[in-house]
Amino acid sequence: LSLGLTEDIPYLKRQQRLTFARVGITDPVSVEDYVAHGGFRGLAAALKISSSDIVQQVTDSGLRGRGGAAFPAGIKWKTVFGAQSEQKYIVCNADEGDSGTYADRMIMEGDPLVLIEGMIIAGIAVGATQGYIYLRSEYPHAFRVLNEAIVAAKNAGYLGAGICGSEHDFELEVRLGAGAYICGEETSLLESLEGKRGQVRFKPPLPALKGLFGKPTVVNNVITLASVPIILDKGADFYRDFGMGRSRGTLPFQLAGNLKQAGLVECAFGLTLREILYDFGGGSATGKPIRAVQVGGPLGAYMPESQFDTPLDYEALAAVGAMLGHGGIVAFDDSVDMAQQARYAMEFCAIESCGKCTPCRIGSTRGVEVIDRIIADQDHAKNITLLRDLCDTLLAGSLCALGGMVPFPVTSALNHFAEDFEPRVLRAAS
Ligand code: NAD
Repeated sequence: LSLGLTEDIPYLKRQQRLTFARVGITDPVSVEDYVAHGGFRGLAAALKISSSDIVQQVTDSGLRGRGGAAFPAGIKWKTVFGAQSEQKYIVCNADEGDSGTYADRMIMEGDPLVLIEGMIIAGIAVGATQGYIYLRSEYPHAFRVLNEAIVAAKNAGYLGAGICGSEHDFELEVRLGAGAYICGEETSLLESLEGKRGQVRFKPPLPALKGLFGKPTVVNNVITLASVPIILDKGADFYRDFGMGRSRGTLPFQLAGNLKQAGLVECAFGLTLREILYDFGGGSATGKPIRAVQVGGPLGAYMPESQFDTPLDYEALAAVGAMLGHGGIVAFDDSVDMAQQARYAMEFCAIESCGKCTPCRIGSTRGVEVIDRIIADQDHAKNITLLRDLCDTLLAGSLCALGGMVPFPVTSALNHFAEDFEPRVLRAAS
């Protein structure tokens, strides 16, 4: 798989770059270069088999949604494949909004054709002839590169009518968001794509059955779709051989925060958080001990040092009350104030809430106030109980993962870093 780069750069040497194999090596908008480095081989393989066999390959590979929810991609595709409709859509969720994440941006800027190829294969698999990439407006370079790559792919006969001389048609357009985190939630994204205000829809119906303009729609994250070409090219077993447990293949982990060496690390699932932090990240940039790590974006749990040996696998993280999400890993040294971090999570939710459901809209604002009272030493025990109650309500009663997940950073901070929430007199004494 090595294309020459990995031998030279120590940071890349230990990586297992499947999805990112070409990034930094090829000219992102040259179809010729892409093909010369193994591009469009997955599509060629897909064109030789039936649509249901493509869906089966993706299912057998074990690929799960890389946006964060880790839902099996093959099952989602199967639902859309089986839905009866004259029009179906492939929607790529490129509204990468999690703090500390940038894998989607890197692939869109560095190898946009692998995403385009994945979307074409998805279209052929489920019978969709139109695709949209919903891109966050904060990524202007990705916007330019994607559009250039789409034109290049079209000119070379990979997009449009009769792809590569086959009976399959597929058109692709990039649409820009307007800066709302909630539009990364799939139903808000679809609302926004339809030209409406980005507000969450009730589920069911699932987008797979009633998605864009009410039609069956595959909504997949950038990395999920960009992982498809190698699966079709090398086979489901090849991809499945990477990883552990039910987490198969590789994940681009994105290192950020207080680390000596931040960056993207694509590796098979299963290496530990400690290995990522120290072997790749080089430890903290300040040289002080790493005290907390937030994995999985602004709504991910804060993991303490005692959990650093957890393997990076969806189930292993869930077992310790954390989540892998989109693979963002943000490190903090011992100068971090975890009560402030919990406040930040609630404030983030209050700012980004779409306002449709009460727990998220009102609960997050009340949450900020409760944490402020805790920080100000007012009715300490009562407010801690209230904060936990509020988290239970948000978890159980929110319409989507924004309100539903804000309890993770808050309760993990409370559970693992209780001393940061203690009254000031106690803190001063310790
Ligand atoms: P979810 O568990 O509700 O759904 C997962 C996906 O599976 C959805 O696309 C859903 O429509 C689909 N699905 C479920 N059952 C299905 C079926 N039977 N057939 C077909 N499709 C089916 O999760 P979600 O609300 O979509 O996502 C939440 C996740 O998003 C969080 O875990 C978080 O990690 C992540 N997230 C990511 C970012 C980012 O920037 N990448 C930002 C915020 C949140």
